[in-house]
Amino acid sequence: MVKLGPEPFFIAGHLALDFLNSIAAPQGESIEWLSSGSDLLDWLKSARMLDFEIAQRFQTENSSNTLDAVAKEVRHLREWLRGFITRHAGHRINLSVLAELEPLNCLLEQDQAFQQIEAASSEQEAASALVCKKHRHLKQPEQLRQIIADEIVNCVCNVDFRLIRRCENPTCTLWFYDTTKSHARRWCSMSLCGNRAKAAAYRIRAKQVMDTFDERTF
Ligand SMILES: [Zn+2]
Repeated sequence: MVKLGPEPFFIAGHLALDFLNSIAAPQGESIEWLSSGSDLLDWLKSARMLDFEIAQRFQTENSSNTLDAVAKEVRHLREWLRGFITRHAGHRINLSVLAELEPLNCLLEQDQAFQQIEAASSEQEAASALVCKKHRHLKQPEQLRQIIADEIVNCVCNVDFRLIRRCENPTCTLWFYDTTKSHARRWCSMSLCGNRAKAAAYRIRAKQVMDTFDERTF
């Protein structure tokens, strides 16, 4: 099935927040990128969180009903994450949030991931030539939740929540992790909201100049 509509956004600076942004209203109309199982597989491929071949296998080995049910659970996970991020963004996260993370810990408990020692990639400056990498045999479509949970865990444990923000455009719902040096990022992206806000500010300034001009002349 050919899907219409824009490509999903990967502008957040962290995949857990890109996951949060998989429902958005960039032009005012809400777009859901995870509305079905097949949508979910496409989004995971676009996010480079799932190999093309594995996605293909899931698609052929499972009924659309099974995959749709997983997509529903994933949307549920996303809205749980939205609540957590909304409550804690802008503040340093501390131990008091542990109880709230219970649903995520329950999901992690079901994981069947394993680790393997492998060669470190040549670009990485590491103390050892070896690294330990996490893998999982992906057999059940329910395991797709575990791939996303990995990113959420990374966000909760490694990200400075003081730098998680929502785009300053009041009608925009996109979140991002401000990794700029100055920590002054304001927009989800310049092309989506930054330029629009700049144009609006310019119109206001131009009107103010014209009003002053009118007062002086007449
Ligand atoms: Zn925005």
